[in-house]
This record gives sequence, C-alpha cells and structure tokens, in this order.
Amino acid sequence: MDPTLSQQFEKFNAHGKLPSPRGIALEVIHLTEKNDTTAHQVARLINNDPSLAGRILKSANILVRREGRPVASIIDAVTVLGFKSVRQLALSLSLVADFGKGTCAGFNYQQFWSHSVCCGVAAQQLVTRMSIGVADEAFLLGLLSQIGRLTLSTVFPDQYAKVLTQVSETHSLGKLEHEAFGLDHNQITSLMLSDWGMPELFQNIAMYLELPDSSNFPENSRSWRLLQLFNFADQLAEICTAEAAERTAKVPQLMLLSTRVGIETEALIEIGDIVIKGLNEWGGLLNISVPSIPPFKELLDSASISLELSSIEALPSTSSASFKLHILLVEDDRSMQLLYKRLLEKSGHEVTTASNGRAALEIVKINPPQLIITDWMMPEMDGLEFCKQVRKNEEWNQIYIVIVTSKEGTDKLVEAFEAGVDDYISKPINPKVLGARLRAAQRIIQMQLAHEHDRLQLRQFADELAFSNRRLQELAMTDSLTGLPNRRYGIDRLEQEWANATRSGHPVCCLMVDIDRFKLINDTYGHHLGDEALKLVATSLRLAARKEDVVCRLGGEEFLVICSNTSEESGFQYAERLRLQVASNPLQVQGQTLHITVSIGLSSNSKLDNVESMMHIADERLYAAKAAGRNRTIAG
Ligand code: GH3
Ligand code: MG
Ligand code: MG
Ligand code: MG
Repeated sequence: MDPTLSQQFEKFNAHGKLPSPRGIALEVIHLTEKNDTTAHQVARLINNDPSLAGRILKSANILVRREGRPVASIIDAVTVLGFKSVRQLALSLSLVADFGKGTCAGFNYQQFWSHSVCCGVAAQQLVTRMSIGVADEAFLLGLLSQIGRLTLSTVFPDQYAKVLTQVSETHSLGKLEHEAFGLDHNQITSLMLSDWGMPELFQNIAMYLELPDSSNFPENSRSWRLLQLFNFADQLAEICTAEAAERTAKVPQLMLLSTRVGIETEALIEIGDIVIKGLNEWGGLLNISVPSIPPFKELLDSASISLELSSIEALPSTSSASFKLHILLVEDDRSMQLLYKRLLEKSGHEVTTASNGRAALEIVKINPPQLIITDWMMPEMDGLEFCKQVRKNEEWNQIYIVIVTSKEGTDKLVEAFEAGVDDYISKPINPKVLGARLRAAQRIIQMQLAHEHDRLQLRQFADELAFSNRRLQELAMTDSLTGLPNRRYGIDRLEQEWANATRSGHPVCCLMVDIDRFKLINDTYGHHLGDEALKLVATSLRLAARKEDVVCRLGGEEFLVICSNTSEESGFQYAERLRLQVASNPLQVQGQTLHITVSIGLSSNSKLDNVESMMHIADERLYAAKAAGRNRTIAG
C-alpha cells in the first residue's frame, strides 16, 4: 500500500467515526476467523446480543430454505450457514443497523445499502457461475465494495454533502473527493478492507472497482477476471438502484460489459432477476427500503430498442477511421449482436447482421462483405458450416472470416481452420482483442485491395500499351499528309493480294498513278498550295475507287491503287474512271482553280511470276503514258 495513502487514512481513523462493526458483531467476526473456534462458542457469543441473534436467525431462514423445518436456534443457524456466512451477516447486519441513516445531506443512505446488497448478491452469483472461486466471500466484498462512500458521508457529513453537489460531467466524484479529502472513496474502501484484515486481492479489487481498465492486473489473470466480474456486479447494482427513468439508458453499457465477462442475454436476465429477488429479501431483513424493479427481461427489451449509441465506446484505437470495412456480423444472441454491431459501427465500419449461417449466406450472395465475424454455435446453420459454404464459392475466397468460439470450442479450432476461417476470437469477446484482430484483418484486406489495385492498373497499362502500339502501327503504315496508307503498307498489301490471287486463281491489278506536271503547280503557287492539292487529289482518288480497292500514296505525287479480284480489262475501266474523275473536277485550292490530270500505268498478275515484275511493268506503262502526252491510262 502506498505509504502516503496510509498516512492519509490514519487521519481518517483519528476521527474515530469510521463505519465499523461494533460490540458483539466485531467479536463474532474475530472469533469466526480463528481456526479452533467451535459452533457452540460462536452461538453463545451471538446469543449475548438478542437483536443480532434475531436477525441472524431470520437471515438463516432466508438463505437456507429447508422444507418444513425452519432454522430455530442460533446454534442451528451457525451450523447450517457456516462460519463464513455468519461472519458476513454479523458484519453487514451491524453496519446497516448502525449506518442505515445519517446526517450527510444528499447522501442517500437507503439507496447506498440497496446498491451494496445488489452488488453483493450479483457478485456471489457471478463468481459461482464462472467457477472462479471465492464464492463465499464474494457477497461480503460486493456488499462492502463502496464502503468508502459511507465513510466519507459519516466522517465529513457537511463537506461531503458539498462535494456531492459539485459532481458534473467534467468533475468526477473521485476527483472532487481527492481535492477535498486527499483520498477518493475507492482508495478509502481499499484501506478499510485492509484494516479489517481482508485479503489483498479484495483490497485491490475495491481500489479499481469503478475503473477496471486502470488496474495493472495482467489481462486474463484470475485477479483481472475477478475485477471484471465485480465491476459488472457494481454496474448491475447501479442499474437496480437507478431512478426508473435513468435505468434504461444504463442498460446498453451493462450489456456490453456482460459480453466482456462472457454472460449471454439469457444468463443476464436470470442473474438480474436473482439480484432483484435477493434485494427484496435482504431489504426486509436489514430493514432498508428497496426500489421496485421490473423483471430484467422487460428492462433489456425496452433498452434494446432505445440502445443509446453514446453509451458505447468505440473499440480501442483501431486507427481505422480512414479505412472502413464492410463487415457481416453473424450472431444469434440478440443483445450481443446489437452491441457488437454498435461497437463496430462506432469504430467506423459498415455492419450488416444475420442471426444464423443460413441467413448470412443469403446476404453474402447478394452483397459479399470484406470481413465476416461469425459466432460458432447458432441455430439452423452454425458458424462452421456457414464458413464451409462460403469457401465453396471461389469468388468469395477473399472474404476474411473470423469465428467466435466459446471455451468448449477452442479444442475444435483445427476443424475451424480446415473449414476455412482466417482467425478466431474467444468468448467473452474482449474489445481490446477484437480491436487487435480487426487490425490484423484490415491489414490483410488492405493488402488484397492493393494487390487488386495493382492488377487493375497493370491491366489498364497493358490496354493502353496495346492501344498505342496499334496507333503506332497505324502511324507507321499511314502517310501523314493525305491520311492514305503509305508505301510500306501498299507494297505489303500488294504482296498479300498477289499471294491470295495466286492461291485462288483470281486476277489482281495494280495501277501506278502520277500527277502530271505537278512541279509546275509547286513552282507557280508554292509548295504549301501544292500540299493542299495533293490532299484533294488523294481524296478524290479514294472516292472514285471501289470500296474493296486499296489506294496508297507511294511518295511524292505518285499513288498506287490495288484492285483485287479484277481482270486487266475491268482494271482498265476503273483506271479510266479514276483518271476522268480527276481530270473533270478542277480543284478549288486557296482561291485558285487547278486543272489537274493524272497518268496511269496498269498491270495485272496474268502471265507474270512475281509482284516485283507486276510493279515494274506498271511503272513502265506509267512512263509510257507520260511519254504519250499524259492524262491517259496505258495497259498491256
Ligand atoms: P510529270 O508530269 O513528268 O510527272 O511532271 P512532274 O512535275 O509531276 O514530275 P517531277 O518528277 O519532275 O516532279 C514532281 C514534283 O512533285 C517535284 C516536287 O516539287 C513535287 N512534290 C513531290 N512531293 C511533294 C509534296 O509532298 N508536296 C508538294 N507540294 N510537292 C511535292
Ligand atoms: Mg450462439
Ligand atoms: Mg512523279
Ligand atoms: Mg508527276
């Protein structure tokens, strides 16, 4: 114990007004702690205080329900109750008898004792259910867990009354107590338990009762779990003794806590009802007025509907604000489902829910999530089968699956991993662990997304490359001035057509077309106008040609027209048509009217061995056409 705390506590003690058992009760406590004490000795001592004796007898009849035969004597009571219970009774009965009321304004003594009793009954229930030991003493620790408040109200009634009025959102009771008295009520409780010789574990639990996260108990150690349980009992007591109007608003936090300590809704309802019953019994016995509380199921039902987001904290530092996951939460327990949904949503995720595997599978079909958190034990289709079904579909194999296992499930984990789960969380789900598991899931999902992004980018890049390759190819095959296929294309194409013709036995013709006296146009009007004229001649050649004919610019003012499937005779007619088309359509270029003619040499594949000779002959005939006076076609 911190020495300064102890010194501070000594000052309290000096006032001599600390609530403590007195007289016979105190002696009973000491006597029952000794090893060699007999039941007769204890009974004799209790009988010295008739009022204590009467109340112990009544308590024994409430606590030990024996059909037909009531507990009639103190020795009987001591025997059936056992020393530990007798000690608890002596302590609590004497404290309540002496401190059932007091002078501190604003301190509700009756409510305080109701709270203490609820906490005691709840703690005993929880500890027994979770088989975590100390069940006998749990009631006592629960009962005394806030005794520091009573102490402050008893030792400093006026000052404490003032402190109680100052409590607000920004000024917690603990902080104000510290300022006023140097100690807060949890520290005082802890010191008093130490003074009464209670185990150190109890002192520590009392110290951190209201702020379990600030204890440095190793997570999942026995003391840590006990602290969680007592904190839960304290919260449960808080709800039982709250004003009816505030009660509902406090339920969600209790539900969250219950999932933390591993208590499902049904069990919570059972425990709650036991606490209410216990409160009524003890209330009668200790002569305190107790609040009337509706059955717990009603309380939970009304709370589920109006579940307040504000009362639920986000998961611890998921650092996920920027990375929202689409989560499918599959859980049959209604309040767990609701609470985890809110918890995940508060942490910035988008959550869809289902109550069993079958319903979940339907959701996956319509809208596959990135992450599935599924309970194992569920009606209709359990988590394991659900997981197997999801893994059957290859499209869903990127979905990250976390299964929630109870204690019984852990030895079947191998089976779960074989069914395709990626990770597991044990029940009760600890928000810290859930947060950590989510971060792991996020990392994997983020990696998958990045990978997918890279893949898409690579594909886009490949598409772009293919496109620009095609474009480059086109450019390489296109004459930039006229947009016609160029010489390279023309010669390649002529070779192809030659090969086709040879294979099929069809004829093919080629026309060499050269503009007459073009140099003169350049010389007269300038090169620029010459260019425009060239473009117009190209267009009119293209228009005059048949669709299946290929018109290319070989270079300069020279063009090649390939007429596949065309005999020399019909090729001649086409050539003439081209020539006349050009000759009869004067060009309007930059305000000038140009009369342009072309000369054409034609050859076909008939009687020839190769494409070169076909071109050569067409060239020769073009030359002949020029020599013969231009504006004419010469064929074989
Ligand atoms: P011919 O009737 O004997 O064919 O006479 P020509 O003047 O057309 O023949 P020549 O071979 O003597 O001259 C061709 C001219 O074509 C030379 C050049 O000025 C012109 N020429 C070639 N390529 C281009 C071009 O891309 N743009 C322009 N504006 N003129 C070109
Ligand atoms: Mg379940
Ligand atoms: Mg020429
Ligand atoms: Mg020419």
